[in-house]
Amino acid sequence: METFIQEMKRYLGFTEEDAALLRQIGPRMEKYLPELAERFYSQIRQHPNAFRVFGGGDAQIARLKLTLQGWAKGLFGGGYDQPYSEERYQVGYRHVRAGVEQKYVISAMGIVRAFFSECLLLEFPASDVRLRYARAVSKILDLDLNLMCESYMHASMQNLRALNEQLERANRDLAEASRSKDEFLAQISHELRTPLNSILGFTKLVLDGLTKTPEEERELLRDVFSSAQHLLGLVNDILDIGRIEAGRMALHVDDVDPRHVLDSTVPLVTIPAAEKDLELRDETHNTELPLVRADEVRFRQVLLNLLSNAVKFTPPAAADQPPGRVAVRARILHKPDAPAAHSGNGFLRIEVVDTGIGIPEEKREEVFEKFVQAPAGRRYGGSGLGLAISRRLVELMGGAIGLENGEDGRGTLVWFTLPLASKEAAKLPPASREKTSTRAPA
Ligand code: ADP
Repeated sequence: METFIQEMKRYLGFTEEDAALLRQIGPRMEKYLPELAERFYSQIRQHPNAFRVFGGGDAQIARLKLTLQGWAKGLFGGGYDQPYSEERYQVGYRHVRAGVEQKYVISAMGIVRAFFSECLLLEFPASDVRLRYARAVSKILDLDLNLMCESYMHASMQNLRALNEQLERANRDLAEASRSKDEFLAQISHELRTPLNSILGFTKLVLDGLTKTPEEERELLRDVFSSAQHLLGLVNDILDIGRIEAGRMALHVDDVDPRHVLDSTVPLVTIPAAEKDLELRDETHNTELPLVRADEVRFRQVLLNLLSNAVKFTPPAAADQPPGRVAVRARILHKPDAPAAHSGNGFLRIEVVDTGIGIPEEKREEVFEKFVQAPAGRRYGGSGLGLAISRRLVELMGGAIGLENGEDGRGTLVWFTLPLASKEAAKLPPASREKTSTRAPA
C-alpha cells in the first residue's frame, strides 16, 4: 500500500531527480544552518505566547536550535526515508502536546522557506540553475509541512476522542447524580410529609374545637409534639448527610472521655425503653474507659442513633416471654483486626446489643447505605439515614462500624470503634503497642 510519504511525493511531483538535486546542494547549504536556527528562534520567540512553549529558557532554545539544524540537514539527504518521516511525524505530536497551534507551524515553515530562498540566491546567482534547486527545496518543504499537518490532525483527533470520552463520563456521572438526587428528594419529601400531615391534622382538630375533653386535647398535642420532634430529627439528618456528602462536615476532634458521653446519652432512651418494658443496661460501668479521639457531639449522635435503633427494633415481650433487652458494652482493642481505619494507640470498641428483630446477614452492609431499610424494619418507621450517617461520622473520626448477630443468635449487635487518645498509648502493654500500628479494629 502506498504510504503517506509516497502519496505526497506523487502529488507534489517530487521525483528522484529532485532528491538528487537536494543531495547535490546539501553540503553547500550546511554552512547556513546555524544562522537559520538563529533567525528562526529569534523570530519565533517574539510571539506573545512563546513563554508557554519555551519555558525551558536559553538551554532549551540551544537544544532546539541543534534539532532544527539536524532536521534541515536531513531535508538535504533528499530521500525523506521512512525513519526520517516517522521522526517528523512524532514532532507533530510533540507540538500538539506543547500547545503549539497548527497556524504557527505553517508560519514557521514560511520562515524557513524564505531563508532558503536567500541562501539559494547567494549560492546560485544564475537564475536557471537556482530555479531547479529552488523547486526541489520547495517540494521537500511542502512534503514536510504536509506530514506535520497530518500528524497534527491525528494528534488532535486523539485529543478530541479522549476529551469526548471524558465528556461522556462526566455526562453519565451527572445523570447518575441527578437520578440519585431525584430519588433522594422523592423519598425525603415523603418522609417529611408524614409527620407534617400529623401536625397539621391534629392542630386543626384542636383549633376547630373538635376535641371533647381537655385530656383528649392534650393527647393530640402530645402527638403534635412528637411529630414535630420527629420532623426536627429528620431535618437534622438530612442536613447532616448533605454536609457529609458535600465533604463539608467539620469535626472538632479532641480527647474525649467516653464515660461522660455514655452517662449523658444512655438515659435519653430510658423512657422509650420503659414504654416497651425493655431492660436497658449500661454494662460499661465495670470497664475502665480510656480517653478517645473523637468529636464529642458526633460521638454522642452515633451512640444515640444505635441505642434508638436497638430500642425501636426490639418489640415488647409477649406475655410468657422474658422482657427484651438492650445493653451497652465497651472494651479496649489493642490489636486492630479490620480494615478501614488505623490508630497506633489501639481502639475503644463500643457495642450496643439488643434482643430485637435482628438484621439478616445479607442486609448487614446494605443498611449502611442511605435510605436502605431491612424489610422487617420498615414498619417501624424512620428514614434509613441513621446508620449511613453513623458510618460516615465514625470513619471521619478514624474508626469503623459494623453489625453482628446479637446474643444467642438473636437480635442485633452494632459495634463501632474510636481511636484511643495518644495519652493512652503509654498504658497499653508493650507487646500490643507494636501490633496496633497500621490496620484497623473490629
Ligand atoms: P432507620 O432506623 O431510620 O430506618 P437506620 O439507617 O438507622 O435507619 O437503619 C437502617 C435499617 O437498618 C433500619 O430500617 C432497620 O431495618 C435496620 N436496623 C438498624 N438497626 C437495627 C437493629 N438494632 N435491629 C434491627 N434492625 C436494625
